[in-house]
Amino acid sequence: MRLLNKICLITGAAQGIGLATALKFVREGAHVVVADLKPAAVDAAVTACLAAAQAAGSGSQVIGQALNVTDRAQVDAAVAAVLARFGRLDVLVNNAGITQDARLQKMTLAQFDAVIDVNLRGVFHCAQAVADTMVAQGAGVILNASSVVGIYGNFGQTNYAAAKFGVIGFTKTWSRELGPKGVRVNAVAPGFVETPILATVPEKVLDSMRADVPLRRLGQPEEIANVYAFLASDEASYINGTVIEVAGGLTV
Ligand code: NAD
Repeated sequence: MRLLNKICLITGAAQGIGLATALKFVREGAHVVVADLKPAAVDAAVTACLAAAQAAGSGSQVIGQALNVTDRAQVDAAVAAVLARFGRLDVLVNNAGITQDARLQKMTLAQFDAVIDVNLRGVFHCAQAVADTMVAQGAGVILNASSVVGIYGNFGQTNYAAAKFGVIGFTKTWSRELGPKGVRVNAVAPGFVETPILATVPEKVLDSMRADVPLRRLGQPEEIANVYAFLASDEASYINGTVIEVAGGLTV
């Protein structure tokens, strides 16, 4: 159990990659705070994680936390609640994210702002809210969800690409600022992964995505969760400031 007794806060953990990561973390022995927008979805995810913990015999505690990462007061309250309960915070996974796609000429300011607010500002809020604690501990891990779109851009994703490029900038900056204090910061850049975020993508486009990937398929949420678990663990103790692409060779 590579994450035994580590206290981990995962945002956007009610479904998709975040839920797969929460499930993986409890199987690895972590105590996990499942944070997401809707209380009912959070409760369902907590139930699933507790079942996984029991099946794995990990003894993990799993806590649900209703949280909108765009609301700084909520983020501060969520981190305070984790500290009140566990007394420390070892791992933050900044996973919450949304898309609102449109070409440059069609994108509304509301679409632009919504995606920047969650995918960029939300990551900033959460990292800033945990940084003092991790520095005081002299240890901690911050993992950020970027994307291959944050490496080479994507048609129709001005807002999303800007945020995901920005997340890589955060990662490199924070790894320099916090590395000397014992805190590692890394990003994961998934390719196209089968989660509800792809629900609005037409099947024809999904087929062309599959064709572009040397492995000829979309990724599974568990394949991203595995990388988060490795990066969160002490096995990754000398990995800092990197972006790990998990994309089936998409960018080769
Ligand atoms: P998803 O839509 O399945 O899940 C995202 C979760 O984030 C949802 O549960 C949602 O409620 C939550 N969320 C949204 N806004 C929030 C907010 N303001 N506060 C708290 N929670 C919020 O998405 P996913 O595919 O699992 O993606 C997870 C992360 O991985 C995102 O950051 C996404 O950009 C990134 N990513 C996904 C893919 C992919 O192909 N699926 C590829 C690259 C990167």
